[in-house]
Amino acid sequence: HADTAMYQAKASGRNTLRFFDPAMQIELEERTALMEDLRQALPLQQLRLYHQIQVNERGVVGSEVLLRWQHPVRGLISPMEFIPLAEETGLIVPIGAWVLHMACVQLKAWQVDPLTRHLRIAVNVSARQFSQPNFVEQVLEVLKDTGVNPLKLGLELELTESLVLNDIDDSIGKMQALRSIGIRFSLDDFGTGQSSLSYLKRLPLDQIKIDQSFVRDIATDPNDAAIVRTIIGMAENLGLKVIAEGVETEQQREFLERNGCHAHQGYLFGKPVPIDEFQNSLTQLHR
Ligand code: C2E
Ligand code: MG
Ligand code: MG
Ligand code: MG
Repeated sequence: HADTAMYQAKASGRNTLRFFDPAMQIELEERTALMEDLRQALPLQQLRLYHQIQVNERGVVGSEVLLRWQHPVRGLISPMEFIPLAEETGLIVPIGAWVLHMACVQLKAWQVDPLTRHLRIAVNVSARQFSQPNFVEQVLEVLKDTGVNPLKLGLELELTESLVLNDIDDSIGKMQALRSIGIRFSLDDFGTGQSSLSYLKRLPLDQIKIDQSFVRDIATDPNDAAIVRTIIGMAENLGLKVIAEGVETEQQREFLERNGCHAHQGYLFGKPVPIDEFQNSLTQLHR
């Protein structure tokens, strides 16, 4: 391997000094191998959708769909590891379309059951997926294909700040089109991006998701506590709902509730689980 690296570095000339670092060489090979495998993940049915419960003071509001990759050799791989690869290769477009389709199949099933007809499903949308010129049409197509009732939609799309700011006018146009048929929009990981107030008021959002990095030390760090109170107050003034992510303790929940946070998501209420397990926990709750 060292010889190959040396050869590649020489062959490709300057600016390739990193090839001399064996650790980086291995990392690069790993990445390439994983990318190759990822091309097969969808056709070989290795992708799994997990659901994580979202609650408010009245009970369950729905779930966020979180992708997992059941790799035949490496086991269950986190989206933190493979979503960036999928973004880079463009594979996120078919993968994202599949996630949306499967989420709507589930939503349809919930809509015909009195026990679950009020529940929402939140789906993460990637930058590359959202920037597709026909993204709006793709979503409409999925709704039609899955028979999701447009009058009681229950579909929520999670966008990040950087994605929206990529092309804010394009984003606003797409959001308005989808909102007009009942889709909700939630701004994910809020506070970690540029969080400029001037753009926030322009966005047709329904909800802000406070990033878990602010929630973590909320009960002990006065700065985080102040930030979270400010975010909630600002959301309130803009007429937006607020959900907190990464809620793990009673103290965090208590703080958030006391300060007017509308909904919660986190290990305190449930980890992301396969749909069967999720359904079971719903039935338990209603017993
Ligand atoms: P995210 O959308 O911000 O999702 C929240 C992440 O926080 C999830 O990680 C979830 O498992 C984790 N989490 C939830 N509650 C807690 C908690 O109480 N404590 C801690 N420590 N963590 C908690 P996960 O499932 O690993 O997903 C990571 C990221 O991958 C997601 O962040 C999202 O950006 C991305 N992702 C996941 N599924 C999809 C997908 O279908 N499409 C796209 N484009 N991105 C996805
Ligand atoms: Mg999310
Ligand atoms: Mg998030
Ligand atoms: Mg996050």
